[in-house]
Amino acid sequence: MTKPPPETDRKALEQDQFLTILSREEALARFTAAMASVASGVEQRELHDALGLPLAHDVVATIDVPPFDRSNVDGFAVRSGDVASAGESAAVRLVLNDEVIACGVAPQLAVLPGTATNIATGGPVPRGADAIVMVEHTHPVGDSAIDVRRAVTPGQFVSYAGSDIARGEALLRAGTLIGSREIGMLAACGIARVDVVRKPRVAVLSTGDELVQPGGSLKPAEIFDSNGAIVAAAVTENGGEATFLGAFPDDEPALEAAMRKAVAAYDMVILSGGTSKGAGDVSHRIIGRLGKPGIIAHGVALKPGKPLCLAVCDGKPVIILPGFPTSAMFTFHDMIVPVLRQMAGLPPRADAQVTATVPVRVASELGRTEFVMVSLVNGDDGLIAYPTGKGSGAITSFAQADGFLRIEALADQMPAGSETAVTLFTPHVRVPDLVVIGSHCVGLDLVTAPLARSGLLVRSIAVGSLGGLAAAQRGECDLAPIHLFDEKSETYNASYLVEGLELISGWRRMQGIVFRTGDTRFEGLTAKAAVDAALADPSCLMVNRNQGAGTRILIDRLLRGARPDGYWNQPRSHNAVAAAVAQHRADWGMTIAPVAQAAGLGFIPLAEEHYDFALVSARRDRPAVQAFLESLASPESRDALKRAGFRPA
Ligand code: AMP
Ligand code: MG
Repeated sequence: MTKPPPETDRKALEQDQFLTILSREEALARFTAAMASVASGVEQRELHDALGLPLAHDVVATIDVPPFDRSNVDGFAVRSGDVASAGESAAVRLVLNDEVIACGVAPQLAVLPGTATNIATGGPVPRGADAIVMVEHTHPVGDSAIDVRRAVTPGQFVSYAGSDIARGEALLRAGTLIGSREIGMLAACGIARVDVVRKPRVAVLSTGDELVQPGGSLKPAEIFDSNGAIVAAAVTENGGEATFLGAFPDDEPALEAAMRKAVAAYDMVILSGGTSKGAGDVSHRIIGRLGKPGIIAHGVALKPGKPLCLAVCDGKPVIILPGFPTSAMFTFHDMIVPVLRQMAGLPPRADAQVTATVPVRVASELGRTEFVMVSLVNGDDGLIAYPTGKGSGAITSFAQADGFLRIEALADQMPAGSETAVTLFTPHVRVPDLVVIGSHCVGLDLVTAPLARSGLLVRSIAVGSLGGLAAAQRGECDLAPIHLFDEKSETYNASYLVEGLELISGWRRMQGIVFRTGDTRFEGLTAKAAVDAALADPSCLMVNRNQGAGTRILIDRLLRGARPDGYWNQPRSHNAVAAAVAQHRADWGMTIAPVAQAAGLGFIPLAEEHYDFALVSARRDRPAVQAFLESLASPESRDALKRAGFRPA
C-alpha cells in the first residue's frame, strides 16, 4: 500500500499547479493526452434523427441494390439475339406475352425466342430476356405483337442486380457525417436505424455572485450572465448537447454540490468564472476534489484567457473558462473545441482564413499567444484588418469583428504593415460597402439606418477622432467622424483637415454639466456657476474625461487649474460619465445632452460640439458614400437626430 504524500507536499503540489503557466501548445498536448482515455458514446438513431451525426461503425450492405435486374426504360423485354438484324427498313416482329410488368409486379412468364414482354421503367426483367427495346423504337401490331425497328445489344437498358450497391460491400465508413445522400444510401439498403457517435452531454454552469439571467433586472453591481448563453450555443455549434444548469454564487459548498452532480450526470462540465485568484474565486479549488487525475493546466499563456483551468476528473473533462466573455470564447474555441469535436466524432473545425494587412502597430505581451479581433475593410492593395478589441471584458467586440489574428508568444508586437492570416468567424467575409472610422456617436446609427435597410453593409469602427483622421489619410475608410476643437481658432474640425479630405457637416451635440435631478447644488445654475458651486463644496465628487477628449478641454477650461476630488477618474465615454453620476459614484461631470437625457439626469448646457465628417474626396462618388450623404441631408434623418437630442447642421 502506498502512503499518501504528507499534507505539506500535497499542498505544495496543488499550489504549484496554480502557479505554473503553461504554453498554449503544452497545455493542449497535456489535455489531449489526458483525454485519450475518454471514450465517445454510441447510440442508435432512426435515419431521420441521424442527420449531421457521425457514423459510429462501418455500415455493410446486406442486400443488392437494385435487388433484381431492372428495366431502365419503358419498353419491351426481349432476347437481344432475336432483334440483332432489326433496322428502320427491316422490322422484326415479336409476339407479345400476355402480361405487363409494371413496378412492383413480379414476372410470371418467360420471354421465349420470338416473344417480348411489355415492361415499365423499374420493372424486373423476366426470365429469358436480356435487353429492353425502348417503346419509341417499336410499332404495335394489333394487341398481340410489335415490330421492332432497332437492334439492341445484350444488357441494353438493364440495371443488373447489385450494380448500384453489392451485398457485403462497405457502404459507409465509420466517422462519415450523415447527410441526405448518406441517408439515401442507407434507406436504399433497407436500413432504418444506425449507430452514431452520441453527442457529448455537456453541462454548462456560470459562477459569480454578480450574475443575473437575461430577462431579469439588474440591482447595483450586478451584470447579466452572458457566458452561460454563449458557451451553451458554442457547445451546440460544435457537436455537443448543451444543458445550461444556471449561474451559481461563489459559495464553495453549494458550487461543489452542483459540480459533483454535473460530473456524475454529464460527459463534460464547463464552468466560467472563478478561476482567477481573486476574492471569491472558488471553482478551481473544488475541481481538485472531484476525481483523478484532476487539474492538468491552470494558467495558460494565452491572451485573452490566462486563467483557463483544464481538468479531467475520473474520465470526464472539467473545464473552467475565464469569466470575461471574450476570454471565455477565445479559450473555448482554441482549447476546448478540438477536444469536444473529437468526443463528438466530428472532424477538426475548418475555419476559413484570409490574408490581410494590419494598418497600425499591434502591441502584444511577450510570452503569451495573443488573439486580436479585427474588422476587415477593403484597401487599395487587398484587405485591411483593423483591431477592434475593447479588452477581454467586451462582448460587443465579437459581434462587430469579422475574425481574429494571432500574435505568437515570442513576438512583442505585430508591426504596422504586416501581412497576417485572419481566421474568420463566418465562412465568408462580406467586405462593407461603407467604412466609417473615427469617433462614434449614437446619432451615426440613425443616419446609417436607411443604408442598412437598403442592403448596404456599413462598418463603423470607433478609434476616436484622431485615429479616424489617420485612417482617412491612409485611405482605409470613406468617412472619419471627428469632433476636434482647435483652441487657436476656437473652431471645430476644419483646421484638422489635410489634402485629400473634405469636411461634411454633421450635427451639433450640446455639451454640459450632468447631475442628478433634484441636487440643489446644481439646479437652476449656469454651467460656470455650477462648477464654482461644486468647487466650493469639498464633499462634491466629479468625474472627468480622458486626456484627448474634446469634452476634457471644456472641463479643464471651466476648472481653471483646479483639481477637485474625482479629477483622476477619467473614463473614455459620454455614457460612462452619466453612469458614474447616476450611480452616485460621482456628483457631476460633463457629457452630451442626449446621453444625460437617456440616463434621466439633470443637464446644464454649456457649449455645442461639432460632430462632422472628414470625407476622403477620392471616394465621394462611391454609391454607398452618396447614399450616406443623401441620408444625412434627408428630412427623415434630420428628424431622427432631433428627436434623439442632436441639432443637425
Ligand atoms: P472571475 O473569473 O469570476 O473573476 O470573473 C472575471 C470577470 O468576468 C468579472 O468581471 C465577472 O463579472 C465577469 N464574468 C464572470 N462570469 C460571467 C458571466 N457568466 N457572464 C458575464 N460576465 C462574467
Ligand atoms: Mg466571479
